[in-house]
Amino acid sequence: MLSKLPTNLPPHLNLKIIKKFTYNGDLGRARQLFDTISEPDLLSWTVLIDAYTKHGFPKEAIKLYAEFHKRNVQPDKLLLLSVAKACSASMDINKAKKIHEDSIKFGFGSDLLLGNALIDMYGKCRYSEGAIKVFACLRVKDVISWTSIASCYVNCGLPREALRSFREMGLRGVRPNSITLSSILPACSELKDLSSGREIHGFVVRNGLGDNVFVSSALVNMYASCLSITQAQLVFENMSQRDIVSWNAIITAYFLNRECEKALCLFHRMRTGGAKLNRASWNAVIGGCMQNNRPREAQEMLAQMQDLGFKPNQITITTLLPACTTLESLRGGKEIHGYVFRHWFFDDVTATTALVLMYAKCGNLELAHSVFNMMPRRDAIAWSTMIFANSMHGNGEEALSLFHRMLNSGIKPNAMTFTGVLSGCSHSRLVDEAFSIFHSMSRDHLIEPDAEHYSCMVDVLSRAGCLEEAYEFIQKMPIEPKPGAWGAMLGACRVYKNVDLGRLAAKRLFEIEPNNPGNYVLLSNIFVSAKLWGEASETRKLMRDRGITKIPGCSWVQVRNKVHTFVVGDKRNDQSDKIYRFLDELGEKMRLAGYMPNTEFVLQDVDQEEKEDLLCNHSEKLAVAFGILNLNGGSSIRVFKNLRICGDCHNAIKFIAKIVGVQIIVRDSLRFHHFKDGICSCQDFW
Ligand code: ZN
Ligand code: ZN
Repeated sequence: MLSKLPTNLPPHLNLKIIKKFTYNGDLGRARQLFDTISEPDLLSWTVLIDAYTKHGFPKEAIKLYAEFHKRNVQPDKLLLLSVAKACSASMDINKAKKIHEDSIKFGFGSDLLLGNALIDMYGKCRYSEGAIKVFACLRVKDVISWTSIASCYVNCGLPREALRSFREMGLRGVRPNSITLSSILPACSELKDLSSGREIHGFVVRNGLGDNVFVSSALVNMYASCLSITQAQLVFENMSQRDIVSWNAIITAYFLNRECEKALCLFHRMRTGGAKLNRASWNAVIGGCMQNNRPREAQEMLAQMQDLGFKPNQITITTLLPACTTLESLRGGKEIHGYVFRHWFFDDVTATTALVLMYAKCGNLELAHSVFNMMPRRDAIAWSTMIFANSMHGNGEEALSLFHRMLNSGIKPNAMTFTGVLSGCSHSRLVDEAFSIFHSMSRDHLIEPDAEHYSCMVDVLSRAGCLEEAYEFIQKMPIEPKPGAWGAMLGACRVYKNVDLGRLAAKRLFEIEPNNPGNYVLLSNIFVSAKLWGEASETRKLMRDRGITKIPGCSWVQVRNKVHTFVVGDKRNDQSDKIYRFLDELGEKMRLAGYMPNTEFVLQDVDQEEKEDLLCNHSEKLAVAFGILNLNGGSSIRVFKNLRICGDCHNAIKFIAKIVGVQIIVRDSLRFHHFKDGICSCQDFW
């Protein structure tokens, strides 16, 4: 092939042939010819860089510009423009900053055309600071500059700023066009700002822009987000032409407004009416079903989507997965896993990471591990997720070893990684390890610890029983301690029965989060176990006086794809009689095995026997009993609780797991507990 390439041609002919090759999409041969030229002119560089971006290889384009850079030739505006587009496409923020520097260096700092492209580039990279700088340097700003800065704000999650710049644009006498309007409307959607949205709608009507399909679709979206479904429908019905974007918008609108039937009906109409569906339509309907808690329909849609030859992408998969993190959908999650597996989506780090998190949150750490181990590539988020998953399940050692493996494989940790590994250390009482990692953060990894990391360290010290040190640590913190820090200390004060520090921590907590009932209950429990009845009832009175009510505890367990929910003393279940009888029998066996009911956890002033009775009917115990009665040959049950597990139940479930010979996994508001053979993975620190 190479021999057929013409060589030593005059420059204008070279350029002509390169253009022809790139026009035909033959980038390989274009590059071969380009490489034979000893000193390519600026236009040849530009043409090739442009071609790489247009054909979906922006990284190649950026690499080629790096080659150009080595030659110490001054670029022109067109060349810089083409590189800016490559940076937009690859969303490479570092390269983006570099090209911005270059454009200033070579004298294009206030050039309108290039400036607009740079603003757009920063918008795509979600770096508003850069865009603001470019925008400020423009001496003349046209409608594209204003539109670009507004949509950059929208992209960066700054809808208020977007609307502010849109208004300023109007004040400066620049008229918005249809692109401006369709870019700014999402800001109103985001803020659910119906009045600004209406104002823009008015402008659209007055200026005859209603026929623009992008503007109308954005209007449909805006009304839907502001929960004005009637308005959304009106806009949709009045559209002179509808494309797939508008159909997708109205379907999403109905789902957002919880009108699932109407959305599905419309989807049916769209399909039978011959509208050309795209993948986004399927993603909209699958996402909608999931938001409306209809995982079964979502899965049916997934199947139909594939039957019709549409390939799910990572959006489809990641839309489906987070909804699977409730117990109800573990089975659904597994089906999606099957799909990911069959279709080699394992290449997609985002989808696979979502899968890891789904399994971990559903309480199945083994599956999370095996998915993680199968990933061909792992980025910082994947590693952090796996570390976090282990911490959540109390495997501090494993979290730590994953952290070191991550560093060894050359992946840079981020703030989330450290939160994950530090909380792992706290659950497993690895104090020295935690401190050495904490100190390495700014020293070795240039990440300043934030409030979250400091809270983790307080937790590390508290759980290890170093309460005085924890208190000292909080006082020396360079940033304001978050409730999490004081909360960690208060929790530990209950376990280690430290009344004085408990009082101190609670006092601060009552100031910074006065409405959290958990803090009052914890402090009152601390007083009860120290037999300080007076102070205990004072605390409860304070809570009552402030009008704070305890959130009722609630536990749930899945049996044959149905979720069964229990509250304290629940008798609504069909099998209630069986459950209480079973717990009674179990109680006898437990006593024989050495179980002592811990009545500290009952706050009512009742006599001993009655207290024991009350302990028997906590929601987590009822759910565990129900799960065991309906094991059907299974070897483990998973119970979920909305609050922290009660101390007596924790103790009792250890006995139950041993006596019945099952593994019981309980997820409470803080972590997972794995009960097996009479012990819990948390080492009794819940
Ligand atoms: Zn209990
Ligand atoms: Zn435990």
